[in-house]
Parts: sequence; structure tokens; C-alpha cells
Amino acid sequence: MDVRGSIRVDSDVLIVGGGAAGVAAAIASARQGLSVTLVERYGFCGGGAVAGLSGTVCGLYEATNNIAAGPQQVVFGFADEFCRRLEAMGGLGAPLLYGKTWARVHDPLVWREAADAMLREAGVRVIFHAVAQSVRMEGDKVEGLGIWTKQGPVDARAKVVIDASGDADVVAMAGLPNFIGDNGAVQNPTMIFRMMGVDVERFVGEYGVDTIMPEKVSAMIRAKHNAGDYKLPRAKIWLFPTTRPGELLCNCTRVIGPDGRELNTLSYRDFTDAEIEGRLQAREYRRRCCQDPVCVAGHDLRRVVEDPIRQDRGGGVRVRRGACAQGRLD
Ligand SMILES: Cc1cc2nc3c(=O)[nH]c(=O)nc-3n(C[C@H](O)[C@H](O)[C@H](O)COP(=O)(O)OP(=O)(O)OC[C@H]3O[C@@H](n4cnc5c(N)ncnc54)[C@H](O)[C@@H]3O)c2cc1C
Repeated sequence: MDVRGSIRVDSDVLIVGGGAAGVAAAIASARQGLSVTLVERYGFCGGGAVAGLSGTVCGLYEATNNIAAGPQQVVFGFADEFCRRLEAMGGLGAPLLYGKTWARVHDPLVWREAADAMLREAGVRVIFHAVAQSVRMEGDKVEGLGIWTKQGPVDARAKVVIDASGDADVVAMAGLPNFIGDNGAVQNPTMIFRMMGVDVERFVGEYGVDTIMPEKVSAMIRAKHNAGDYKLPRAKIWLFPTTRPGELLCNCTRVIGPDGRELNTLSYRDFTDAEIEGRLQAREYRRRCCQDPVCVAGHDLRRVVEDPIRQDRGGGVRVRRGACAQGRLD
């Protein structure tokens, strides 16, 4: 119960979630002349890329066995436009080799500001610190959402509701068909962190330009883990020099519960454990890195407000290509 009256907000398109998908959907819809409201539970956009510090823009470049040919961009459209904006704001690094393709490290603080600017230019109404917590149904159609804000409940109505929550929250609340992972099996959470004070030039000289670390690093990690000196459950790790001097983006951890159980972060208990265990594990990898002659300088850690999670709940409705841009959900 909330004795405060609710505030009514009407739009053509209502989008839950300001991650990459929600930002793209909001701007594309607004550019079609539709009135658009985007609600985001944090005070900034970016979702997994920013709050989760996932850190790189993947998927722009072709995967190839001919690495020598260099990065061939194959994805353009809004993703490309957003990258150009990041680049112009100094928030995007050059393509870095990532196995058979390339990824570009972004600065999450710049990501937020690029999204703010583009959403504002497109005329999207953004409501931050707002959690979609219930659905208003008309038959099997979602007509609106109950949204929690500090000011009180918001009764948001729209012709089209787009679930860009990353977890199909709206779909689940509406009781529409949805599924979890691969027959319920989900990939483990990863707590991503950044390390500062690294001699990046020396680091690249020692370990190579591929951001997927070579076998000698994995072997070192396994040896330390197996000897019981450290708890380092993941040996194949990815380290990316960032846009800031002396900084590495570290995708190293494999977070499991304190009792060794696999975690599904749709469970509030598992999500809480993932945060705590992820922070502990990030410390452990940092402790190991500080013993590395190449990474010795005064390390510090920057971490995230949530851990990004892979493959959790998927949605029950499929949106036909182009439907978002045309303001239709069909
Ligand atoms: C560990 C890990 C590493 C990754 N690394 C990379 C990488 O290096 N490069 C890359 O390109 N991709 C990477 N990804 C994938 C990338 O993070 C996702 O593809 C991307 O974040 C998906 O964007 P999205 O907008 O669909 O969802 P999300 O980014 O999850 O955004 C969802 C948004 O919705 C908001 N939200 C959720 N529920 C509600 C609610 N009820 N009310 C209001 N707001 C809500 C959230 O706060 C969030 O902002 C990684 C993913 C993981 C898990």
C-alpha cells in the first residue's frame, strides 16, 4: 500500500530499462515522431555496459581467421552512431584484438553522458531512479506499468510497452511466456573490475596484443589455485587496456556461492551472494596480479554497482525487425 496518489504519465511508447537496447529503442522511436518515456532504476543509462562495467563494445567487427587483415566493421546503424558519439567525446578506445575479432573499450562515465545527450536531442522523457514493479493488462496486452519512484507511484500508460529490462521483467510480471537460460541452466555471473597503476606497455610486451590472455597466464593461475595459495576459479581471463593511462579492464572472475553452488541471479539470495562473492573474488585476482612482475605498481580497484549476469530470463514475445522503429509491437 502507498497512501500517496499516483502520478499519471501517458506516452506512445514506454520503455523499461536504459541499457543499450532501451536507449536504442527510445531514440529510434522518438525519431519516428512518437512520444517516448524511458524508465530506468538507476540514475544513469548503460545497464550491463555501465552499471555492470562490462566495458567493451563487442560485435562490430567480423570474426576471422585472417587477423592480419585487421578489423572489418560489419555492424553499423545505431550502434555505429553511438560509437561515433562516444569517440567524439573521448570515450572509446581503438579496436583491440579479442581472439578472432576485435572489441573496443569504452569509458562508462562517457557512455552515460553520450546517452543523456542523445536521448535529450531525440526528445525522450527519461525517468531515472524509477522501478517498473507491476503491469496493467488489457487482455493479453500490456497497457501500462506501475512504477516506483521516491515521489510516489507513477501510473504510466502507453500504446506500446517495450521490455528492455535485460531480464524480461515486464514479460514475467505479465505472465507472458518466458524462459530461463538454456532449460534453466544459466551462465555464471562475472564481477568485472578495473585495475589502475599498471605499466600497460610492459604488460602488452609481455603478454601480447590479444586481450584473451595466453596459455602461460592461465597455467600460472591454475598453479596458484591448485596449490591453495589463492582462490582463482577461472583460468582463462581477458584483460583490456582502457582509454585511461595505466588501467586494465579485467574480465576474470567466475562467481559461485559461498557454499560452492552455481548462482542464478534472478534469485534475490543468489544475486546478493553474487555481489559479495564477486567483490571478494575481484580482490583475490588483484592480490595475485600484484605478485606479477609486470603489474606491480600501486593497484586500485574500481568496481560496479551490480554484476553483469549472463543468460537469465528471456522474453515471451518476439518483436519483428523494424517494429520498434515504427512504434508497433507485433
Ligand atoms: C559478464 C558480462 C560481460 C559482458 N561483456 C561484454 C562486452 O565486453 N562487450 C559487449 O558488447 N557486451 C558484453 N556483455 C553483454 C552486454 O552487457 C549485454 O549484451 C547488454 O548489457 C544488454 O543490453 P540490454 O539493454 O539488453 O540490457 P541491460 O544492459 O541489462 O540493461 C537493462 C536495463 O534495465 C534496467 N532495469 C532492469 N529492470 C528494471 C525495472 N524493473 N525497472 C526499471 N529499470 C530496470 C537496468 O537497470 C538496466 O539499466 C557482457 C555481459 C556480461 C554478463
